[in-house]
Amino acid sequence: MQLELHLSKDEILQLYLNLVPYGGNIEGIKAASLLYFGKPPELLSLAEITALTIVPNRPSSLRPGTHNEALKMARNEWLLRFGKEGLFDQNIITDAIHEPLNIKRLSPPRQAPHLSLRLQKDFPGQPVIQTMLKIQLQKQIEEQVKNYINRMQSLNIHNAAVMVVNNETMAVEAYVGSADFNNPYDGGQVDGIRAIRSPGSTLKPLLYATAFDKGIITPKTVLNDVPGNFAGYEPENFDQHFNGPVTTEFALANSLNIPAVKILKEISTPVLVGQLKKAGFQTIKKQEKDLGLSMILGGCGVTLEELTRLFASFANEGDFRQLNFTKKNQPTKKGTNIVSKEASFLLTSILTQVTRPDLPTNFDNTYHLPRIAWKTGTSYGKRDAWSIGYNKRYTVGVWVGNFSGEGVAELSGANTATPLLFSIFNALDYNSPKGWYQMPGNVALRKVCAVSGDIPEDFCDHQITDHYIIGVSAYRKCRHLKYVFTDHSARISYCTYCLPETGFEKRTYPNLAPELIAYYEQQKFPYQKLPPHNPKCERVFYDGAPLIVSPNEGSEYYIRQEEPQQIQLACQAANDVQEVFWYINDKLSKKSGPNEPIFINPPLGRVKISCSDDKGRNSDIWISVRRM
Ligand SMILES: [Zn+2]
Ligand SMILES: [Zn+2]
Repeated sequence: MQLELHLSKDEILQLYLNLVPYGGNIEGIKAASLLYFGKPPELLSLAEITALTIVPNRPSSLRPGTHNEALKMARNEWLLRFGKEGLFDQNIITDAIHEPLNIKRLSPPRQAPHLSLRLQKDFPGQPVIQTMLKIQLQKQIEEQVKNYINRMQSLNIHNAAVMVVNNETMAVEAYVGSADFNNPYDGGQVDGIRAIRSPGSTLKPLLYATAFDKGIITPKTVLNDVPGNFAGYEPENFDQHFNGPVTTEFALANSLNIPAVKILKEISTPVLVGQLKKAGFQTIKKQEKDLGLSMILGGCGVTLEELTRLFASFANEGDFRQLNFTKKNQPTKKGTNIVSKEASFLLTSILTQVTRPDLPTNFDNTYHLPRIAWKTGTSYGKRDAWSIGYNKRYTVGVWVGNFSGEGVAELSGANTATPLLFSIFNALDYNSPKGWYQMPGNVALRKVCAVSGDIPEDFCDHQITDHYIIGVSAYRKCRHLKYVFTDHSARISYCTYCLPETGFEKRTYPNLAPELIAYYEQQKFPYQKLPPHNPKCERVFYDGAPLIVSPNEGSEYYIRQEEPQQIQLACQAANDVQEVFWYINDKLSKKSGPNEPIFINPPLGRVKISCSDDKGRNSDIWISVRRM
């Protein structure tokens, strides 16, 4: 009565067909049809639909799969009745009666399992959720990932995750959370797209693009890739080798660490964190207070989803938009600007270069190099291999590693993740018909000095062409050389204060940064030194005091009484410095060459350490020394 009052006959029949029991936990005729015959109800034969129709009469004793014989007999009784009633032609009935019945319960279809589970949680109680997945693409990439990881097993690499985003709609068209969802040993059910991992070098593109927008650098700006000390933090390169002066584009394409740390120091960590927060990086937001310069080398936590979404904003010329997982949230047309169109263009040009070390070493003709911009990353301890790439149509994020967190010596972004990225692009959009990015109107070409990347001076005889952003990129005059007054034999230099009236010459000398001098000294690399300053000069200089690089300002030392340790004093001094003087608590302690490290036994307590050069320029730091 209740049902008749509230529902039509059709609705009641629909309810019945959706809820009718089919043995075990199977409910409804559609589920039964898929699980017993592997096809939807509309494709069932007369014999099949007859069998299914009668199961609910006795769901236990006619249970398909376990009682096939009984079910077949019951089915044929009904088919004979249909024949007698004249419901079907006799030959159709005869065919149906002779149809074998070999039902086995199939496993339920499980497509895109990680995304399905995720969306089920996000939309509780919603019976049907329409995703943006391209099911063919999804299956193909699942297959590619599975086969790829099978080949990697021998290296003790067991997992991978891949996400494919359509740049125009921001639709997630493929979502592969692990190599094999059904593999319980390697955590196949873990969703690698949302796992928090160290990004290695994959945040560098955002840093460089941000620095392009701040006008600090252009692709040809020269940076010093030499050992440096950043308040106690001494980063090394991946290969523990330093390159000396390099261009910005070389530093990014080769993923050098020191230049990246220097740029981050210049734009400051909070600015980069702000950018990442704008791009929706959740873990970074939580870690905000603990993040330092090391974050640019992977000292923070990100997910593959966050990285892929960030790179999609580079693909969309700096425009950041949220991902679309379901048909329900319609594509947002307007996003937020993370970096400018101009900075994205400079970045993309660098990340497209193919002569670079993060090509897989076994890279050969087995796959084509797709036309994409990409960046690799390898986390500390070789736990994570990343490769994120884009063209105009797609952004693809690849992570390879172990969910257990176990590191593998052979693992690297270039060799472990990039081959998978390339093979996905080869299958997806090898040479996008959408073409490539055009140079924005606000990017132009200019001549710069090859030594510095700055605007050439009269003495800059080697000039090259560089891209720059009009009205944004700094207009710095090159200072790779400087004019110095010397005597005729270039043995003494003069300043304007002590310059004699006659008997001097104006010469050019390399204007080297103290850190570069220290590096050249350490490498025994010859460079042109300034002659010592006129010893009779009485002027006091202020600029360019020695930079104390050891010990670190504010550091604490604990000293054992029985065997007191020594601490090292080291500085970086200007090119014309011959000697430096070290003072401990304002008392002269040692005299040394500017690049010669020395050792002292420090007194206890708060200790003032001063370093003066032979022009009287002075720096102080404070440390504290305690007894253990
Ligand atoms: Zn120059
Ligand atoms: Zn002087």
